[in-house]
Amino acid sequence: QMVSDIGLINGYLRSISEGDLTVDIDERIVNRPDEIGEIGIYAAKMRSDLQKLIEMDPLTSLYNRRSCNNQLSRLFQKGDSFTVVMCDIDWFKKINDQYGHDAGDYVLVKISEMIRENVADCGFASRWGGEEFLLLYEGYKKDKSEIVREFEELRQRLQDTVISYKNENIRITVTIGLAFYQEGTTIQQLLNIADDNLYTGKKYGRNRVVY
Ligand code: GH3
Ligand code: MG
Ligand code: MG
Repeated sequence: QMVSDIGLINGYLRSISEGDLTVDIDERIVNRPDEIGEIGIYAAKMRSDLQKLIEMDPLTSLYNRRSCNNQLSRLFQKGDSFTVVMCDIDWFKKINDQYGHDAGDYVLVKISEMIRENVADCGFASRWGGEEFLLLYEGYKKDKSEIVREFEELRQRLQDTVISYKNENIRITVTIGLAFYQEGTTIQQLLNIADDNLYTGKKYGRNRVVY
């Protein structure tokens, strides 16, 4: 049994070292009340910490751009319809200038929490860049107007939110560009459409959803 369990741990570590972070460790190993069990527990913790480090943005705890690209490829391979949502905070540079960089960081964390809640059950939220978020929304059965309405509600909710940091009450707005998946479009085309819509929203006054 001992030799066979060491073999399992060995295989587990080999998979991780080859870049496969989706492997699961055998329950039997981590339940062992000895050093082999402990090695198993540490190996499993190492795997999950490594996965977080690679996939998540440390400031906001959203997925990072790299995992968003992977998720985009997965959705494309599945061929189901989904919506690309680019969301950028308006005049964010002014927030930093007025309240300081730490306050800016705090705002990013709070906004990220709200964005994550908003897509919790049918989407994927990532920090695409500094103050820009890319969401992949998988509301297959919903029609476009319903999806637009949901993001219009998110925009409104963010506009109504007061973020308290130290003695300051900070308010922000966001501009959102949507792109709906269509058969035959490429990932890059979809991203460009969402980006163009976001840019149009910025040009025509910000704090709006463009699709
Ligand atoms: P716009 O409405 O056109 O989007 O204006 P903006 O000021 O939001 O856009 P701009 O691209 O000019 O500035 C983005 C700012 O976001 C500049 C940068 O300092 C700030 N920023 C990016 N990443 C971070 C971060 O991690 N923390 C903080 N505090 N600020 C950040
Ligand atoms: Mg901005
Ligand atoms: Mg930006």
